[in-house]
Amino acid sequence: MRVLLIAPPGAGKGTQGTLIATHFGIPHIATGDLLRDHVARRTDLGRAVQHHLDRGGLVPDEVVLDMVAEAFAAAKAAGGGYVLDGVPRTLAQARATYEIAQRLDMAANVALHLQADDDEVMRRLLARAALEHRSDDTAEVIGRRLALYHEVTAPIVAWYGERGILVSVDAMRPAEQVGREVLAALEVMRSFVDHVPDAARRPIDLTGLGAAFGR
Ligand code: ADP
Repeated sequence: MRVLLIAPPGAGKGTQGTLIATHFGIPHIATGDLLRDHVARRTDLGRAVQHHLDRGGLVPDEVVLDMVAEAFAAAKAAGGGYVLDGVPRTLAQARATYEIAQRLDMAANVALHLQADDDEVMRRLLARAALEHRSDDTAEVIGRRLALYHEVTAPIVAWYGERGILVSVDAMRPAEQVGREVLAALEVMRSFVDHVPDAARRPIDLTGLGAAFGR
């Protein structure tokens, strides 16, 4: 299984990414975690990117794409599956990630879009700030991360729709409910991926399910 996660900050990429990785026995590649680890260890890279993280801006593409290339090579050696969390954030990153993956014959089979509105993610991130003290979980920086998401990340969702690998899930519900739906959708996709070419598939939109069954 090869999954990309696309979601606004606070929608649950980390939580669902960990769940997917455990369920399918694949590596969880989270660029935010990798970058924060560099900052914590005060590596050269960490010192170079810290101000981008603190301000809620984007780290330069070559830094994250190098990380992706390295992590993909390791994932290939470990069996070829992955769940990628944090990349792509822009259309340029989406194209570059596709090329890197393609060269290794491991292009994603599913782009999982977790939908949550701004008020909900702001509430979650401010609650997390009280517990975790992440330097970018202040109201001002969260606002900037959200604006960036709407401006440069949200538009790439359509690109995955055209490629036939998009699955959209309503992430406004409790994490375990979202997780159950995510795993069920991915299990269904798993039976498809080896038999139906990406181009012959249609986007799958499960975001109405919450309302249909009464959240
Ligand atoms: P969130 O989605 O909650 O903002 P992440 O942990 O995914 O959190 O990312 C935290 C920060 O790491 C981002 O605000 C950004 O500064 C940096 N970052 C992570 N992934 C990328 C990326 N693909 N391109 C540029 N910067 C990134």
